[in-house]
Amino acid sequence: MQLTKTDFIQYLHCPKSLWLLKHDPGNYPQGEFPTFQKKLVREGYEVERYVQQFLDSAGDRNVSFQAEFRTDDGLYARVDALEDMGNGMTALYEIKSSTSVKTDAKHNHIKDTCFQKICAERAGRHIDRVCLVHLNGDYVRNGAIDPGAMLVFADITEAVEELATETSAEIDAGLAFLASDQDMSGCSCVEKTRANHCDAFGVFNPEVPTPSIYSLPRLRANKIGDLRSMNVLGLDDVPGDFPLSTNQRIVVDSFQDGEPKVNEVAIRQFLSELSFPLYFFDYETFSSAVPLLDGTSPHKHFPVQYSLHVLDDDGTIQHKEYLEREARLPDRLLERMKEDIGPEGSLMAWHASFEKTQNRQMAALFPDAADFLNGLNDGMVDLEDLFKTAYVDARFDGSTSIKKVLPMVCPHLDYNDLDVQDGASAMESWKRMLDAAPEEADSIAQSLLSYCERDTFAMVEIYRFLMELIS
Ligand code: SF4
Repeated sequence: MQLTKTDFIQYLHCPKSLWLLKHDPGNYPQGEFPTFQKKLVREGYEVERYVQQFLDSAGDRNVSFQAEFRTDDGLYARVDALEDMGNGMTALYEIKSSTSVKTDAKHNHIKDTCFQKICAERAGRHIDRVCLVHLNGDYVRNGAIDPGAMLVFADITEAVEELATETSAEIDAGLAFLASDQDMSGCSCVEKTRANHCDAFGVFNPEVPTPSIYSLPRLRANKIGDLRSMNVLGLDDVPGDFPLSTNQRIVVDSFQDGEPKVNEVAIRQFLSELSFPLYFFDYETFSSAVPLLDGTSPHKHFPVQYSLHVLDDDGTIQHKEYLEREARLPDRLLERMKEDIGPEGSLMAWHASFEKTQNRQMAALFPDAADFLNGLNDGMVDLEDLFKTAYVDARFDGSTSIKKVLPMVCPHLDYNDLDVQDGASAMESWKRMLDAAPEEADSIAQSLLSYCERDTFAMVEIYRFLMELIS
């Protein structure tokens, strides 16, 4: 069985999840954001091309790319770049599309570079220097990409050396673990909060229902332990006198009573503070590892589209929208926003911090529009907030994303009929649209418009639902 650096990092995070992936891949659940994962991979290749261009441009360097190393006991590494430095010395380059050297458990760049070095050396190639190439987060594109300014070459030889003995032992343990038999029932994350669970949690713990005690907001591990010691996994079994926070208890009550828990006073208060016209607003943005446009930086988002439903006090509703069809900063988008959003009324978004961040960044990019954008932020309200405490339904399964809330409160409306169903797909579609032939570009544009429109129409319907609830 083969062990790559990606496998190795997964092994360090959780041996059992890697074991399942390797021994029973068909049973390993696909992650929740496959489009996002594909985007990361595609962008990784793009960064590699610029590193290659940069290293090749120094004509006197002897660099090879994608050298493969295999060992008899199953290690496999494809090294991004190897440089023959002369005198029999070799440098290894590991290329990342992040903007820093990461050392957290899930993305330990030192560890996975160390894996590459050990694999190359066990396969017979001595490595003298190790370099991690990542993006410079402060780089601002201005014309053609300047690889020398966009890339950071961090010498991590010493850091890798310090971890070599430990990593070598971990690699051997990982190989032995993969070769062993494992019990598929249960895993240690039953003791931990949901943030620690991987996609395979349900495979190892099929007895845990949905929703479960893990769906309770901010439930700490010690409380999980207390509940498990009482054989409580489902919300129906949580005792009435078990100590929970107010927000946690509301979720339990909602489940046990089979109905949402509604604080009408809080909802009425929230809605009474709104003034007409009501603007229901949503951005779609684009970001990429290698900046697409002048004035942008690695991984910095900029809006490419918005949808806006405007509801008047007489019940009339208008829909306005803008989609940028060219690779261009949001200057035209901004002009249209100024036409579409008037000085009176309340601006509403779902998870408004995202829209506010875009506005702040645009204000920096277009100082002339800063007053307008800051004004939008000052008055923006977040419809999602109501669903954190004032309207709580255990069927949201611990999330207040619009995609969880909408089907529960407005079952006639969902996203299933749309070609684009999430933000990552919208980003990928927008990029594809830029390069597509006219007919295909029109079709992609229509899909993007429909998706963004659904987001704001969903807010309108949720607003109407709330109004009816308190009427
Ligand atoms: S849920 Fe946790 S312990 Fe279980 S397989 Fe995933 S990471 Fe490992």
